[in-house]
Amino acid sequence: MPRITEPTDFPIKCRFCGQDLGTNKVSAGGHVRACKQNPNLEKTKATLAKNAHLRSQSKVTREKLSKIASEMIARGTWPFSYKDRRIYEYRGVKLHGSWELKYAQFLDRFDIKWERPKVAFPYQFRGLSKKYTPDFYLLESDKSKVTKPK
Ligand SMILES: [Zn+2]
Repeated sequence: MPRITEPTDFPIKCRFCGQDLGTNKVSAGGHVRACKQNPNLEKTKATLAKNAHLRSQSKVTREKLSKIASEMIARGTWPFSYKDRRIYEYRGVKLHGSWELKYAQFLDRFDIKWERPKVAFPYQFRGLSKKYTPDFYLLESDKSKVTKPK
């Protein structure tokens, strides 16, 4: 089993952009794979996307991928982080990505009142505690839920 941290005695340089990547082989490898000047970047992105959806990952693999992802996000080299998504300021609300903006505009066009949810819903998936925060909370559909039956 390869270890997450593989320190070397010499500083590693990215062979594509020349950036100094420190002495941790694994995190340096993370940069090289996701380097904007890496000619195989599109292929790497496709592989990462595929891996992210693998459901048969062992706990060790998941933890390893999660650690690599955290390191990449911290360095700003993770290709799917919020950092890469365009932030749209719409009616004083920050929206992540054009699909959120389009949905907000759609709701407004039909005069459906919405806000950003303030609650996250906890759930269990394969024995793990997770939280889901919806993108939009529709105020009136909630109101209709408490309407008394006739
Ligand atoms: Zn690079």
